[in-house]
Amino acid sequence: MSEEHLSREEQRSLDEPVFRTQIAYLLGHSAFYREKLASVGIRSAEDAGGLSNLHELPFTEKDELRASRDKAHPIGTHLAAPMEEVVRVYSTSGTTGTPSYIPLTAEDLSNWIEISTRSYGASGLSAGERMVTTYNAGPFVAGVTLDAFARIGVCHIPVGAGNTERLMTAVQLLKPTVLGCTPSYAMYLAEWAEERGLDIAISSVNKILVAGEPGGGEPEMRRRIEAAWGARVTEAMGIGDISVSLWGECTQQDGMHFSGGGLVHFELIDPETGEVLPLEDGAEGELVYTHLRQRAAPLLRFRSRDRVRLSMGRCACGRTTPRVRCIGRTDDLLIVRGVNVFPSAVRDVVARIGGDVSGTISIQPNVKAVKQAPPLPVVVELARGVTPDQGLAKRIGQRIRDELLVTTEITLVPFGTLPRTDYKSKLVDWSRSG
Ligand SMILES: [Zn+2]
Repeated sequence: MSEEHLSREEQRSLDEPVFRTQIAYLLGHSAFYREKLASVGIRSAEDAGGLSNLHELPFTEKDELRASRDKAHPIGTHLAAPMEEVVRVYSTSGTTGTPSYIPLTAEDLSNWIEISTRSYGASGLSAGERMVTTYNAGPFVAGVTLDAFARIGVCHIPVGAGNTERLMTAVQLLKPTVLGCTPSYAMYLAEWAEERGLDIAISSVNKILVAGEPGGGEPEMRRRIEAAWGARVTEAMGIGDISVSLWGECTQQDGMHFSGGGLVHFELIDPETGEVLPLEDGAEGELVYTHLRQRAAPLLRFRSRDRVRLSMGRCACGRTTPRVRCIGRTDDLLIVRGVNVFPSAVRDVVARIGGDVSGTISIQPNVKAVKQAPPLPVVVELARGVTPDQGLAKRIGQRIRDELLVTTEITLVPFGTLPRTDYKSKLVDWSRSG
């Protein structure tokens, strides 16, 4: 039976010995973890115990990995395999200048491809289909998905980002059934086609696989993409340091299934207290990951900063793995008079106002800080040809207040005012702050 159909108990009993072996490997090969675990009195795999003791082990933060880098250790002291065994080194875009490097051994790479293959397999991707993608994977871990497409046997047509004409030409001439891109770009393409009088609802594309940002899970954005393209939208989510496509949504469209079974273990924690939360239907928290079979740079209890809502019920697709919907990233969180606000949630509430708005928003705080005083300035773009009226801004503000408990100051702008992107949307514009 595959990892996607095991009961939680079966998966856990398979993972138990693998986890203990991974801890022994960390203590033997990772200077970073030898030191980190020694600081809490753990010097052997026996000291660390099993999965039921995992919550007693310290978290790993991205900043710690970064801090362990120096000239002698460009990857960091968590590098646990000789460089001769590393077959690929990806990097993260990094907001601070120097990128973080993510090394993989041949076995690591193969495992990542397996995870991504399960994830995209769940989304219904199958051999013989033609798929056009706009990933500029380049140095980034998203490149592993390209290997997964080859393993599935898809006819992959990479056109890259930044050239919409080329993409639409490929759609018209090669007639792919699948489009892979960010949700922002799928929305942009819908507008682009509408401006040119092209009806993409009758195109060959009937599946859109989105990843890279939370929008594909926002109900209204999804509805709009599906309506414009006449296609089914499913999403996938991974994280650079752990694996690509760790979660992949099945054709039931009720959240992304965990695809890392046997290779990665996940926990859900309260992001404020760090306390482990029971894996219950509807639970919300931050995902924390532990590699089970990683060799080059394995991580233990890595804090993802991704906030999710969990679904544990049985899925009609037959997979027994838990599902998540991403709520937002801790890094994007704003706190307005004590209330947590994820920019993507604001976008979803605004989009649900309906046909008067384009679905594109920009939150423009006055202060460069997580904590914001109300009202929070939000620029809302109107739909094509809609003229603003006094009542609309008020209605939007009221709706946000009712649903998210936050007071906003709504500014309506004409269609096309806010920037579009072929990559990820920037929902917060800090240029007015400070
Ligand atoms: Zn399912």
